[in-house]
Amino acid sequence: MAAFHERYLADTDGDFELSEHRSDDDGCFDGDKEEGEERLAELRLELAALQARLYAEEKDRVLIVLQAMDAAGKDSTVRDVLRSTNPMGVHAFPFGRPSSEELAHDYLWRIHHHTPARGEIVIFNRSHYEDVLVVRVNELVPEKQWKRRYRHIREFERMLVDEGVTIRKFFLNISREEQAEQFQQRLDDPTKRWKFDPGDLEVRARWDDYMEAYEDAIRETSTKDAPWYVIPADRRWYRKLAVAEILVHTLADLDPQFPPELDGLDDIVIE
Ligand code: ADP
Repeated sequence: MAAFHERYLADTDGDFELSEHRSDDDGCFDGDKEEGEERLAELRLELAALQARLYAEEKDRVLIVLQAMDAAGKDSTVRDVLRSTNPMGVHAFPFGRPSSEELAHDYLWRIHHHTPARGEIVIFNRSHYEDVLVVRVNELVPEKQWKRRYRHIREFERMLVDEGVTIRKFFLNISREEQAEQFQQRLDDPTKRWKFDPGDLEVRARWDDYMEAYEDAIRETSTKDAPWYVIPADRRWYRKLAVAEILVHTLADLDPQFPPELDGLDDIVIE
């Protein structure tokens, strides 16, 4: 099986097609959830060890963009993949409906401020991509305006990469059937009901429009330096595992190191 970072990488040559990506793939695990969860537990520790170095070194910055339809598991992916890391150096920002102050600015204004500093991992739970997704589907700005944004986004991300930010973008690809299942579970479980928003059904009703918007956004903005990964998200355990594998691979490639030791530390004895 191709490594996870190759298997789920979206084409960067302008040929991306969503239909080529399955939402129910589970690689070579063949439904073995237990084995998948064991592997996830190992990856969590690897990620924590790499992040400890990244944080100590204060050199690289890592930006993770998470996009998905409702109930595809954005929140639980953040929680379960990163829960062994040091929260001092890992920050997650949700981007909901823009405030009036945010709307009074350009759409990247609220985004740029939250990009990672040296040593940090930042997760965007939704992102500037909403400005070519929900904004397009709901016709919140004219077509001419949102279409130009693909170019802005490519250039904005290019600038971040040039300035030393490592960007990985994940689309958690859930099927319409699995979303129905997840919504029903939310309704049936009193501890999850708070998550149910009747407005989500209006978004669900526009499923095909959203898929078209996602397909175009990924096709237009998946680049070698800021790639999109299309993660099969119908199985919860596999979705987390795939994201964790790609993050470990990304951080291992950066190869962060603890800062050099000061001279003479061996001679110090604390009394
Ligand atoms: P989530 O669904 O991610 O758990 P919320 O329930 O707070 O979080 O929903 C956030 C909502 O904000 C989504 O419906 C999303 O489409 C919307 N949103 C995010 N960014 C924008 C934007 N730039 N313009 C309009 N709506 C946006």
